[in-house]
Amino acid sequence: MMKKIKTTCVYCGTGCQVYLKVQDGKVVATKPVRDGFNPGHGKLCIKGWNMHEFINSPERLTDPMIRKNGSFEKVSWDEAIEYIVDNFKKIISENPSNNRVLACLSSAKCTNEENYVMQKFARAVLYTNNVDHCARLCHASTVAGLGSAFGSGAMTNSIDEIADADVLYITGSNTNEQHPLIGTQILEALEKGAKFNRFHYLGVDCRICTSLWNNHRSSGFCKSNCYS
Ligand code: SF4
Repeated sequence: MMKKIKTTCVYCGTGCQVYLKVQDGKVVATKPVRDGFNPGHGKLCIKGWNMHEFINSPERLTDPMIRKNGSFEKVSWDEAIEYIVDNFKKIISENPSNNRVLACLSSAKCTNEENYVMQKFARAVLYTNNVDHCARLCHASTVAGLGSAFGSGAMTNSIDEIADADVLYITGSNTNEQHPLIGTQILEALEKGAKFNRFHYLGVDCRICTSLWNNHRSSGFCKSNCYS
């Protein structure tokens, strides 16, 4: 019998809600969630519709492995967790007054809830504030910029409000490709008559839907924002 499991698409930060259809323990298809909160408004883009394919990729690492005698060996989850616990305890007992010897790094491919659990685990169990996330690589500058300009290093409005904007100004994003269902909100705003001003340094995108498009050199990125 087919089971449906509700989850969040991990391909991009839009966070579309999706059902994974599971048959005989295998994810065989996806389906958009059409009721309740859903940034994708009951739709999925092509990536979301096909996310079951990477789940079943033979290249995925699906079992824990421990290096033994110089090579990795597949082990049970119980053995892996026991190994991790023993080593965490050993490191903490050897460094009782130094909470900087351990650090936790999380991923943009996890949900908000999973990232929350990771930082909670770091602070409450490992007694460290060394928490980081791969998104720092691309978002450290935007968080600082938004913080100083708007007081918050995060979105200052909701995805749903994009469709009602009068003017859209986008920098450094190929939204239709990177966050496709946010791209549909932009298209909806354009249909309602919004002006769209876009700077991009990669020279790619759907210029067809842009009322003003500027391609600048990467060194001109800050200047274009200062003068706009
Ligand atoms: S826009 Fe596409 S890739 Fe992004 S969360 Fe939604 S379905 Fe997934």
